[in-house]
Amino acid sequence: MDKFRVGDIVVHRIEEWAGEFSSPQFLFPGYSDEAFRLHAAQIVPDHYHPASNMIVGFVQSWLLDVDGQRILVDSCSGDGKSRPGIPIFSDLQTPYLSNLEKAGFCPEDIDIVVCSHLHIDHVGWNTRQVDGQWLPTFPNAKYILPKVDRTYWDPLQGHASEGGRYVNQNVFEDSVQPILDLARHELVGEGHVVARGLTLASGPGHTPGHMYLRAESAGDRAMFIGDIMHSPMQIYHPDWNSAFCEDGATARQTRRTVLQEAAETHALVFPAHFAGRHAVRVAEEGTGFRPLLDVQ
Ligand SMILES: [Zn+2]
Repeated sequence: MDKFRVGDIVVHRIEEWAGEFSSPQFLFPGYSDEAFRLHAAQIVPDHYHPASNMIVGFVQSWLLDVDGQRILVDSCSGDGKSRPGIPIFSDLQTPYLSNLEKAGFCPEDIDIVVCSHLHIDHVGWNTRQVDGQWLPTFPNAKYILPKVDRTYWDPLQGHASEGGRYVNQNVFEDSVQPILDLARHELVGEGHVVARGLTLASGPGHTPGHMYLRAESAGDRAMFIGDIMHSPMQIYHPDWNSAFCEDGATARQTRRTVLQEAAETHALVFPAHFAGRHAVRVAEEGTGFRPLLDVQ
């Protein structure tokens, strides 16, 4: 599905990339194969390919139309960027901008870009290369970035973990620094109001500054949660972190808090990388949660 409604807000899905992303063993360090098998049937075939033992991932943006204001949540990986840390995101040439156009928008139409965090696949289309220079892709947009991540990922400040620095090589330089230098931007945290009915909340762990976006309109609710989950398997097993979580204990706590809030408020959850229906409502079950509908 490429179009959703949250009250009066229209949500468009802008796809950049889809494919086999990782084995479960790699994606979920310390996972139990037995516990994975318990729920594997519910995520085959859209989210997991048993023959290759690979989790399927999507890289997608959410474009929210709120009273005619266009807000792009997470800007994927970008084209033509050198990514030695995750080679599948290196030197991409994707139909991202034509998918944006198919949804009815051009880069000039975007009023606000929100990056949930400053990882490789959430800031890429912040910029594109013009005459050898990385320039803002969305020339009329204000870019909203997590203040804590801006400091954490700045290579000159050296706070990120060794693994994080390896994965995020070149990312700050070509996709964040040009925004700080050349674009309207705001560095924000907990409670920042993006637009009517859209408020950012702090969801640390995957990265220290990771934020998620709460949306409320005409009695309907949604949560745009970035990388707080990568796979529906984490709904059943909320204690399973991804290999890319900077602070494991905090990431687990945040995942549980966010799932709890989604279950209590009946919010539609929009992660950055889910396949299948791409968005999900959840309910509490046992020591974890379950999707309310089939996720395929
Ligand atoms: Zn991601």
